[in-house]
Amino acid sequence: MKLTFCGAAGTTTGSKHLIEVNNQRILLDCGLYQGRRKDTIERNRNFPFDPAKIDAVVLSHAHIDHSGNLPQLCRLGFAGNIHATPATRDLCSVMLPDAAHIHESDITWLNRHRVGDDLPPLEPSYTMADAEKCLRQFVTVNYHRPMTIAEGVRMTFIDAGHVLGSAQIILDIDDRQTGRKSRLLFSGDIGRPGNDLLIDPEPSEKIDHIIMESTYGGRRHELDTDANEHLCNVIRRMLQRKGKLIIPAFAVERTQQLLYTLEQLRHDGCLPSVPTFVDSPLAVRATEIFRLHVDDLKPDVREAVFMRDDPFGFDGLRLVRSVDESKSLNHLKGAAIIISASGMAESGRILHHLRNNVGDQRNIVLFVGYCAENTLGWKLREGHRHVNILGDEFEVNAGIEILDSFSGHADHDELLGWFGRVQGPKKRVFLVHGEPERSKALKAALTEKHPGGSIEIAAFNQHVEL
Ligand SMILES: [Zn+2]
Ligand SMILES: [Zn+2]
Repeated sequence: MKLTFCGAAGTTTGSKHLIEVNNQRILLDCGLYQGRRKDTIERNRNFPFDPAKIDAVVLSHAHIDHSGNLPQLCRLGFAGNIHATPATRDLCSVMLPDAAHIHESDITWLNRHRVGDDLPPLEPSYTMADAEKCLRQFVTVNYHRPMTIAEGVRMTFIDAGHVLGSAQIILDIDDRQTGRKSRLLFSGDIGRPGNDLLIDPEPSEKIDHIIMESTYGGRRHELDTDANEHLCNVIRRMLQRKGKLIIPAFAVERTQQLLYTLEQLRHDGCLPSVPTFVDSPLAVRATEIFRLHVDDLKPDVREAVFMRDDPFGFDGLRLVRSVDESKSLNHLKGAAIIISASGMAESGRILHHLRNNVGDQRNIVLFVGYCAENTLGWKLREGHRHVNILGDEFEVNAGIEILDSFSGHADHDELLGWFGRVQGPKKRVFLVHGEPERSKALKAALTEKHPGGSIEIAAFNQHVEL
């Protein structure tokens, strides 16, 4: 069996790992690279393999850095099945067309500038029609239902607790050429134990080799007990200043987590009523999918769905779909909370809210999730005083707050905890999905914890025989 790291190696986005065994090719994830527009368009167009020669895809979860390049893979000739959990498939049904729409808009925007520079126009790499077409290649498989997906390859999903539908992927591989049988675990993205909505990442056994994410290697989130208090304090400060609280949040999971927390805080009398807007059609649709898949959520949430009206809604909450209503938020008077996507502030309506509000010191921008290097969100989090938003330079006068405990990613200690719950010889461990410093920190800790195994940081296009 040959394993090749075709993305999310030395970085956090573009997750793609290729397994070749018994003359078949299986791709784990097919994510988009995110970051600087010009670099990523080129990188996303060039697959380090022929898409037409892939036999099957197994998808860990719906996030675009794991699923977003599927429309292009299919457009370039991939005709096989895409295996995913039912909730992942449903989330992809709204996320992939949305990402394609953003891509098409990006190309239109770039072309406007290319005309001025006398450059030929670019074609979109894929379209919304490609996204919709690729959804027909999905085959859904529930957690804990082993399924043979290729000759000598059996796949099982177990919960990763990272986002609705997220899975760790266990592959039982019978290599007919070498006669070796082995069990490979791909972590996908690993969530945090104790999350309010999601089931804790599940343990696994008899694992021979691991492909493991390392997003937060060497980093620790603040304690959960402080998170709601911190959120309340930020909201109270914003109310005193009569400013706006702008929250860039992933439309999927982070927005629902925020709504669930705000509803609980309001229900418990900890927060006064504040006009709150979710300005993201994708987030509105994703919230509907959360309600549909309550079976995959914590029992408390399931109960709340059946017993209370709506654990993701409260008085004063407005779900904004139309462009006109979104634009009207620009002229909103008085204090308000605006939650909008994307979480890394790379695209979407959040860009307009940041343009409008980042220069005013009464306002606060609150980050509740990870931002990849060089994204606008990352620059604001890092404290850049000037940022470029949609082509114009802005001075940052708004307060910047960070609340990482809402993160969907396990931190350093939680990654080690997860690793400890993976049973088996764990002969070779490959670290992916991390900036180099993060992967190095995790490697050092794992090497100490697991001296019998080999802990390696995966390199882009590195081939490994297992
Ligand atoms: Zn993810
Ligand atoms: Zn990811």
